[in-house]
Amino acid sequence: MIEQAGLTLELVRDLGIKELERDKVEPVRAQKLAQLRRLKENEIGDCVRCKLSKSRTLIVFGEGNPNAKIFFVGEGPGEKEDESGRPFVGPAGRILTDIIEKGMRIPRSSVYIGNIVKCRPPKNRDPEPEEIESCRGFLEKQIKIVRPKVIIALGKVAAQFLFKTQEPISRLRGTWGDFLGIPVMPTYHPAYLLHNPGGKREVWSDIKKVLNYLKEEK
Ligand code: URA
Repeated sequence: MIEQAGLTLELVRDLGIKELERDKVEPVRAQKLAQLRRLKENEIGDCVRCKLSKSRTLIVFGEGNPNAKIFFVGEGPGEKEDESGRPFVGPAGRILTDIIEKGMRIPRSSVYIGNIVKCRPPKNRDPEPEEIESCRGFLEKQIKIVRPKVIIALGKVAAQFLFKTQEPISRLRGTWGDFLGIPVMPTYHPAYLLHNPGGKREVWSDIKKVLNYLKEEK
């Protein structure tokens, strides 16, 4: 039986089926990568559109799979992100990575991670409306390029921005909304879980809704 399975796999490979699959995915991925690179290098460049540019070290563009089904939207870079230029690499990032890899059981590199503002607000204060306004177009373009099946909004700033509301995150979390026609599930920010580990239960319940939605989508 094992021998038979091996022969079948060889036949599939010889027929080039793996190659066909890859041929379909790769050009789309390459195109999206090029669009993201153009956005980062040509449009954002060495941005000075708002005052966050004065205190930042590095712009944190975002990272991940350009073909991701899940797009996480955070608030803005913290200290470690500002130093490294990568999103969610500090203490909150470790929690987000655990949610993705231990909870959802998918590699972090399979999702896309971006933020509402791309430069660190001083002392990690909330971004101000003018700062969000200066940066919003970049996130919108990232989302339009990646075209994920689901967005997960992490915390108050992301959820209120995407839903254009002032409702508290405690009321928004766990309930579907949409942004640019894409379903959005808001949940607590991983940094909140650092001080309120009891919130993990709610976050997991929100994440399960996303996983169930994606399963039904297939
Ligand atoms: N918090 C965020 O909202 N985004 C990051 O990238 C890091 C921490």
